[in-house]
Amino acid sequence: MPDSPIQEIVCCMGQPVAGNPTQFMMERAFAAAGLDWRYLTLEVPPEHLANAVLGLRAMGFRGGNFTVPHKVAVIGYLDELSEAAELMGAVNCVNRVGQRLIGENTDGKGFVQSLRSLADPAGSRVAILGAGGAARAIAVELGLSGAEEIVVVNRTAERGQALVDLLNERVKVPSRLVHLSGDYSVEPGTKIVINATSIGLADPEAHVPVNIDSLSPEMVVADVVFNPPRTQWLRDAESRGCKTLDGLGMLVNQGVIGFKIWTGVNPDPAVMQEALEEYLEI
Ligand code: NDP
Repeated sequence: MPDSPIQEIVCCMGQPVAGNPTQFMMERAFAAAGLDWRYLTLEVPPEHLANAVLGLRAMGFRGGNFTVPHKVAVIGYLDELSEAAELMGAVNCVNRVGQRLIGENTDGKGFVQSLRSLADPAGSRVAILGAGGAARAIAVELGLSGAEEIVVVNRTAERGQALVDLLNERVKVPSRLVHLSGDYSVEPGTKIVINATSIGLADPEAHVPVNIDSLSPEMVVADVVFNPPRTQWLRDAESRGCKTLDGLGMLVNQGVIGFKIWTGVNPDPAVMQEALEEYLEI
């Protein structure tokens, strides 16, 4: 037991969860950086979100992550938003600066940071499957990073079109919708192909609706699903000679970015990756 008081607390507010890999990863990273900080996972029902954020202010927490179902609603209780969070209309990371609470979105930034190890999004045509929270966050950051064009492929046309409109009108990156029916054939010239749907979550055999024969070796193929990290989608892409990126990298990198936002210190990504792998028993 350390004899000094705990320096700072950050938290995660969301719906009931059996366990939180982010808590495990963050606490390891705090310890590795020599910071006596804590990361709490708090179950907050939607009707108590306003009071919970007041509590965060009152108790002087350094900030927190906000997960489903609070990512949009929390905006109403914050003082300021980053450019990306404002464009996405969703916040997953809050930082307290003095008495002001500032909302960020680190999901898309985490993805782009992970992607940069294999490809530069600037000037690239991207195809993204999905139009939910993860897809919106990733597509906005890819647009802000200079992607040449973003093709949104989604099952529900209205949701897909809403993302396309956001990208064209506010992010100013050319974008168009492909309404998903059957298997999507990736267009030649596409450099980055991303599964940002929940297909593959807890199902290592799940089929992502893409014609695998349309993938070619010059493409980078990514998945947001991190549990399991080695999805059927990535195995299929590897069999076509593509470079692949799993969802663990995105999770680690969004954690790295949040850690830096709260503490001002760069954490060790290897420690965080190792903690996640241990937690997920990979
Ligand atoms: P949402 O519920 O907001 O969106 C899910 C998306 O998946 C929608 O576009 C939905 O299409 C599509 N979809 C789901 N099932 C099917 C199906 N059978 N066929 C076609 N499309 C389908 O979820 P999120 O965006 O919040 O999360 C998506 C995934 O991203 C989850 O697995 C989550 O764990 C992961 N994630 C990973 C992170 C990381 O750091 N690695 C961070 C955040 C999320 P439709 O619009 O038609 O319903």
